[in-house]
Amino acid sequence: MLTLPTSALSAESLEQNFQEVLPALSKREASIEANRCLFCYDAPCTHACPTHIDIPGFIKKIARDNVKGSARVILESNFLGSTCARVCPVEELCEGACVLGSDHKPIEIGRLQRYSTDFVLEKKLDLFKPAPSTGKKVVVIGAGPAGLSCAAELAKLGHAVTILERKPLAGGLSTYGIVVFREPVQVSLAEVEMVERLGVNIKTGVTVGVDVTLESLTSDYDAVFLSVGLGTVPSLGIPGENLLGVVDGIKFIEDTKTQAYSSIPVGKHVCVIGAGNTAIDAATIARRLGAESVTMVYRRSASEMTAYNFEFEFAKKEGIEYRFLSNPVAVRGTDSVTGLECVKMRLGAPDSSGRPRPEAIPDSNFVLECDMVISAIGQEKHQSLAQQLNLETKNGYIVTDAHNQTSRPGIYAGGDCVRVTGDASTVMAVQDGKIAARGIHAQMLEGMVSAND
Ligand SMILES: Cc1cc2nc3c(=O)[nH]c(=O)nc-3n(C[C@H](O)[C@H](O)[C@H](O)COP(=O)(O)OP(=O)(O)OC[C@H]3O[C@@H](n4cnc5c(N)ncnc54)[C@H](O)[C@@H]3O)c2cc1C
Ligand code: SF4
Repeated sequence: MLTLPTSALSAESLEQNFQEVLPALSKREASIEANRCLFCYDAPCTHACPTHIDIPGFIKKIARDNVKGSARVILESNFLGSTCARVCPVEELCEGACVLGSDHKPIEIGRLQRYSTDFVLEKKLDLFKPAPSTGKKVVVIGAGPAGLSCAAELAKLGHAVTILERKPLAGGLSTYGIVVFREPVQVSLAEVEMVERLGVNIKTGVTVGVDVTLESLTSDYDAVFLSVGLGTVPSLGIPGENLLGVVDGIKFIEDTKTQAYSSIPVGKHVCVIGAGNTAIDAATIARRLGAESVTMVYRRSASEMTAYNFEFEFAKKEGIEYRFLSNPVAVRGTDSVTGLECVKMRLGAPDSSGRPRPEAIPDSNFVLECDMVISAIGQEKHQSLAQQLNLETKNGYIVTDAHNQTSRPGIYAGGDCVRVTGDASTVMAVQDGKIAARGIHAQMLEGMVSAND
């Protein structure tokens, strides 16, 4: 049977390549950084944080060497503070808003947050206790950041929460999707344990809609929170996409989080289709596994890329090349990949997304020689669950109100499955979970939740 070769790099080099990009701050470094903060009144960094963490509040506690108190301030607003400290696009959020950014270096808020939250994770300190039982039961479907955040907030309020998760491990994309040199799996799993210690019952290996019906859940529980995220990468729809060497970008990233690096097949010359954050992560991983060349292929130009600018710059530093205004039309090869045939594009009038519509230039086909093609063109939506519950959707995303309640009373939703603008991030999912928990709690207090309506 034909197989792609695995990395030619030594196990030691691979381990080194997948170490966390930013090292942890030492006590001294954290103290110096915390003391640079101006502790602004009505701080713009806090306004820029989707979970509204009291940033000057937690930094002041680090400056006074009260690390546990500092972590409490963070976790009060964001129970997944350790994940967010690593994965948040801080340049676009809190650090981007820091008043010191215009003339000096902004405060390293992300790294300070990591300093405090890692302290409690490593020591397994529980800073919150569940309130006395309310006798109400909530089921959360999907143990990603949205589901975990919602479950933790509800447990703190005294509700009995069960999370059903189809994967063997909880944590969603923090466990399976965020590149390991940004967030090691252990960090995500330590947060999952912290949620479990609040009394949340997490059942893994249960696929809702297959192993258990949604309708039975709506009758067995007082409220439902849907946090199922998005699905796999859709098919490319071009000839040759079933050849050996064409891989799903999300699965490729997942392998680096669940398998030994030395066992993961990687090409010498790799083409990555797409220009979002998943595409950049997959490209960076291919490089760090030892690919000699990695080329990202995108049908629009750099200005229309959906990846964050700092990710784009990071990928360039990793030696990744870009082919803009190039649209793949076929994967070449007999049994395995030998090239990616593309057509050159030009930008026309704006389409429904407001971005210029790419148009093929006739007779401009060319071939990029490669032995691996990674597809990272987005993620499918879990439409069937919404359909089974007869929920209102828009472009395949579940529609919710200001309290994250769906069109069906008692059923709430949050995270990537509701993010109709496509602008998804972990911290937004965490905030969605919090908002839904407050909505569920308020309705339960009023005795208004009727999941059977
Ligand atoms: C490759 C990649 C890199 C990313 N990098 C970043 C980053 O650096 N920074 C950032 O802020 N964001 C990043 N994101 C986005 C971020 O990971 C998501 O926005 C976030 O994880 C969304 O959380 P969620 O809980 O909505 O969904 P998910 O994390 O996807 O969790 C959903 C969970 O639901 C489970 N599930 C689905 N269907 C069922 C079912 N029927 N029954 C039971 N369980 C089910 C899934 O298995 C999964 O565990 C990245 C995303 C990807 C794909
Ligand atoms: S804006 Fe910057 S200086 Fe002001 S409180 Fe926030 S981190 Fe500190």
